[in-house]
Amino acid sequence: MSTIVIKNTRVMQTMPPFTVTTDVDVVITDDVIRAVGKGAGSSVQADKVIDGKGKTVIPGNVCGHHHYYSGLSRGMMISAGPQNDFIQVLKEWWWRLDRGLDEEACYYSSLICSLDAIKAGTTTCIDHHASPNYIAGSLDTIANGMEKVGVRGTTCYEVTDRNFGMKEVEDGVSENISFAKSSKKRTLVRGMIGGHAPFTIPDEGLRLMGEAMRETGAGLHLHVAEDKYDVVHSHHHYNKDIVDRLDSFGLLTPNSLLVHGLWLNGKEIEKINEHDCFFAHNARSNMNNNVGYCQHIQDVKNLIIGTDGCGGNMFEELKLAFFKHKDETGSWWPGDYLTALSRGNKLVEKYFDGNFGRVEAGYKADLAILDYQNPTPLLEGNAAGHFVWGMSSNCVESVIVNGKLVMENHSFPGLDVAEIYAQAAKVAERVWKKVDKIAP
Ligand SMILES: [Zn+2]
Repeated sequence: MSTIVIKNTRVMQTMPPFTVTTDVDVVITDDVIRAVGKGAGSSVQADKVIDGKGKTVIPGNVCGHHHYYSGLSRGMMISAGPQNDFIQVLKEWWWRLDRGLDEEACYYSSLICSLDAIKAGTTTCIDHHASPNYIAGSLDTIANGMEKVGVRGTTCYEVTDRNFGMKEVEDGVSENISFAKSSKKRTLVRGMIGGHAPFTIPDEGLRLMGEAMRETGAGLHLHVAEDKYDVVHSHHHYNKDIVDRLDSFGLLTPNSLLVHGLWLNGKEIEKINEHDCFFAHNARSNMNNNVGYCQHIQDVKNLIIGTDGCGGNMFEELKLAFFKHKDETGSWWPGDYLTALSRGNKLVEKYFDGNFGRVEAGYKADLAILDYQNPTPLLEGNAAGHFVWGMSSNCVESVIVNGKLVMENHSFPGLDVAEIYAQAAKVAERVWKKVDKIAP
C-alpha cells in the first residue's frame, strides 16, 4: 500500500459544480483518493508528502479523441501534391505517413504523445490508431508506450479497406478483438473497436465490427461525417444516412464514440442521443482541415472534446474550441465547454472500474497539480472562466495517474526524457524518408 498526501492545497473541480476549496489535504492510497479536507492528512503515515501551498489540484484532463500515429508528423518534410480538399489532405499526407509506420515508429510516437499529454495535465488519451503495414501487434506497441510513461488510455485499430481491400479489413478487426480482450489484464490501457470512417468501410466490415463489439463488450470508435464527402458517399453507395447505416449493424452503443460529425443531420444527432453514444468535437483539427464548423455541438447529449491528433494539450484545445464557437456566434460560456471537457471521464468510466473526474474521496487518483496564480478571485462561479482564460499547460507542475506520481515538478522519475526525444527525432527522420517515397 502506498500513500501520497498533498498538504494545504486548493482543489478546483472541473465537473459541475465547479467548487473551489482552500487549505485542504488530498490523501491518496494506492490508486484512489481516500480523503479531501482540512487536516485530512495530518494523522496519515504517508510515503510521500507534497507541499500543496499556493498550488491548485484539478482532476486530470481527458483527450476524447487522439491519433498517436501523428506523433512523428510534426514538421514532416516530404514532397506532397496539392491538398485542396479533405480527401487530398488524407491521400497526400496522413495515408502516406501511416503506411510508413513500423513497430519502432509506433512505439516512439506513443512515448512522445504520452509525454506531451502528461506535461499538459492530460491523464487519459482516447487513441485511434492506423499503421496499414504493421497491423498485428500495433495496439500492444501503442499501449506499451502509454504504460511506460504512465498515461491512461484506450486505443483501437482503424478498420478500413483503403489499401488492401477485405484482407486489410479482416486484419484490422482481428487486431481490435485481440487487443480488446488482452488489454483487460493491463492496468492503464483498454481496447475499443476502431474504424476509419464509413466511406472506407464496406458493409461486410461494419458487420464484422459489430460482431467484434458483441464478442469483446467494447464500443465503437469511428470518424463520421468529418467532411461532406462521407455523407455524399453514404447516400450514393448505400442510399442511407451514415447513422442509419451504422445502426443497421448494431454499432450505436452507450460505450461507443463517434468523432467529428460536422455534416450529420438533425435526425442523426437525435438518434445518436437516443442510443446514448459519445460524440467527440475537435475544433482545431476542423479548422486545420477546413471542413467547416460543427453546428450541432449544443444539441449533442454526450459531447466530449478531442484533439484529433493535434497533441494532447486540452487547455490549449479548449481555448481554441471556445473561441471558434464565439467566432461562429455560439451562445455557450466557458462552463459549458469545461463541462464537455470533463465529460470525457464518463467515457473513461465505461472502460475502467471506478469513478473518474473529481478530486473527491472515492474517485480514482488521476489529477494534476497546477502552479496557478490567480490575479482575480477564483470561486465556484468563475472557475470555468479561469480555466479558459487563465490556466494553461504552463501551470502544470506535477501529475498523478492511477495513484502514481508520473511527473513531479516537471520531471519524469525513472525516464530519460531527453534521450527519448533524441531517439524519436532520429526515428522521425527515418520515417519521413520512407514516406517521401510512398505514392499518394
Ligand atoms: Zn481523428
